[in-house]
Amino acid sequence: MRNKEWEVVTTNKLIGFAIGAALFFLLLVTSESGFVFLIDHANLLFHEAGHPIVGLFSTRLETYGGTIGQLAFPAVLAVSFWRKEQPLSVAGSIIWFFENWLNIARYMADARAQELPLVGGGDHDWNTIFSRWHVLAYDTRIAAAVKTMSWIGIAATCAWVAWRWHRDRSRSPSDEELRAA
Ligand SMILES: [Zn+2]
Repeated sequence: MRNKEWEVVTTNKLIGFAIGAALFFLLLVTSESGFVFLIDHANLLFHEAGHPIVGLFSTRLETYGGTIGQLAFPAVLAVSFWRKEQPLSVAGSIIWFFENWLNIARYMADARAQELPLVGGGDHDWNTIFSRWHVLAYDTRIAAAVKTMSWIGIAATCAWVAWRWHRDRSRSPSDEELRAA
């Protein structure tokens, strides 16, 4: 019995991925006030779509719908690429997933201050959620922890790609053929 093989991470692919990741990193750290153009516009779109969709099922959960919505899309992508066994696309989706948490952390940190311009001008999600959980006083501390977790997640995903490349390199095709013979 032979396991289905994942797409091989070649050295060229690793270099391409590293350049892409470095540029993305640069974009993240240089983006003014933490809003990444285009990516966070997309996140916002999924966020705003999430509220009414979740709201169909529960009015109480509608507040969480935005956050669920913006996380659901990259999560679904990651699972679908995982099933197609495409490591770089999986990594890209997971990095997007964690980048979303940076965006969420920014919103969390604003729970008491409420200085961010809100689309639609409705309720402040995290003010509502943290008030509900009785942790409003800890908003910036929770946000800082979430932010740290996001960066760890992004770093771990990059490490996973490097590990796959290393593993794929040390497993030469001729060995496979020898084993099969
Ligand atoms: Zn919202």
